Amino acid sequence: MSSSVALRLPSIDGLLRHPACVPLAERYGRDSLLTGLRQLLDELRPGVLSGQLAAVEIGPEVLAGRVGERLAQQRRSQVRRVFNLTGTVLHTNLGRALLPEEAIEAVQMAARYPLNLEFDLASGKRGDRDDLIEGLIRELTGAEAVTVVNNNAAAVLLTLNSLGVRKEGIISRGELIEIGGAFRIPDIMARAGVRLHEVGTTNRTHARDYQAAIGPRSGLIMRVHASNYSIEGFTARVPTSELAELAHAHGLPLLEDLGSGSLLDLTRWGLPAEPTVRQALLDGADIVTFSGDKLLGGPQAGLIVGRKELIAKIKKNPLKRALRVDKLTLAALEAVLGLYRDPDRLAERLPSLRLLTRPQAEIFAQALRLQPLLAEILGPAWQVSAVEALGMIGSGSQPVARLPSAALCCRPQVSKRWRGRYLLNLDAALRGLPIPVLGRIGDDALWLDLRQLDDEPAWLAQLPQLQVDR
Ligand SMILES: *Cc1c(COP(=O)(O)O)cnc(C)c1O
Repeated sequence: MSSSVALRLPSIDGLLRHPACVPLAERYGRDSLLTGLRQLLDELRPGVLSGQLAAVEIGPEVLAGRVGERLAQQRRSQVRRVFNLTGTVLHTNLGRALLPEEAIEAVQMAARYPLNLEFDLASGKRGDRDDLIEGLIRELTGAEAVTVVNNNAAAVLLTLNSLGVRKEGIISRGELIEIGGAFRIPDIMARAGVRLHEVGTTNRTHARDYQAAIGPRSGLIMRVHASNYSIEGFTARVPTSELAELAHAHGLPLLEDLGSGSLLDLTRWGLPAEPTVRQALLDGADIVTFSGDKLLGGPQAGLIVGRKELIAKIKKNPLKRALRVDKLTLAALEAVLGLYRDPDRLAERLPSLRLLTRPQAEIFAQALRLQPLLAEILGPAWQVSAVEALGMIGSGSQPVARLPSAALCCRPQVSKRWRGRYLLNLDAALRGLPIPVLGRIGDDALWLDLRQLDDEPAWLAQLPQLQVDR
């Protein structure tokens, strides 16, 4: 070694007593600090022995700083808030619907106190958790009875298994859909123990196709809302009312998986029409299933509504116990459903509907306001413009319909060769902010759709921390 004095790492005991480490012990606990320091010293030891590290690199302040950063990193929650500027409102990967204040309060209450989850306060006897929301759902959909499970996939699985096990489920080839990779109607049917009997063709299925399929092994007829794709052109689909008549003439139940299943006619707010739950029931569907966190705007849940005796059969299935919802979900769901009693004020109070119906002019004005601020931060390498854009509802609602919106469009002002790298770097830098900002890359630009930028102050406050490496 060339230096006359051999370098030595500070002792653990010395570090623990050092003024730079004392606040860390208070903040993160002595055990975490000790583990962190031991790991760091172990990592540095080879460098010290080989003489590659300088004395300043292993001073107590430097070590305390490094350990402090690591502990802070470890402490940061993995579940993090983000800004969804992707243009897709009900984004499955970003948690779908945002809950209204009423539901957040209900969740807090349910989290904090004991509650009458399965307890009938009137009789003092054991109750049923579905009873807590049954009255509301009956009122809002016209259904005879209701049961709620973990999500709509569970609702479909449970319904099929309860009503069609070891029998045939008749379904149009045009409705054998896949949703988000893991949910495929043929696979769910198989797992539910229902034998798939597909009828018709991808684009056209007629009443006679269903008729020809009905036989002694038939258990049910199923209809699935083709949520995330659309068949256009030469198509034919049997109306629900006609299919229901056919099913009932043969003593079979008709199930309808509506996917999003809106409770109200969305055209009232200028949104694309979605089939409503009430209409599906009026048309004769015996059971209708739909999600709680899609267009309904509530927590993740699967709602099963329909005929009383069929719901009773579904509730007796042991799978129901495995798929049941928890108290937080029920509390939130009740609060959200309550808002539907006053449709006139729903768009103000339900965040998903408020965001879906935000006028384009308002979003564009916001884009104009923010454009110079982002342009200033990004500097001359970027052209930032306020532009009109098209967003989506998401979660399989109206796959082809687009929501007129506005965005900040960021284009790198560099040669084509470098553009891709610039875009990826900006995307990563936005994701690296304290509240990650998620946009979308397309057409040689990065787009930040502002439809869902509610909390503008928080977004602006962190912008100066944006570090784009080139
Ligand atoms: C979204 C969807 C499902 C799955 O619902 P989850 O609530 O996500 O489990 C099932 N069927 C259809 C038609 C859907 O659109």
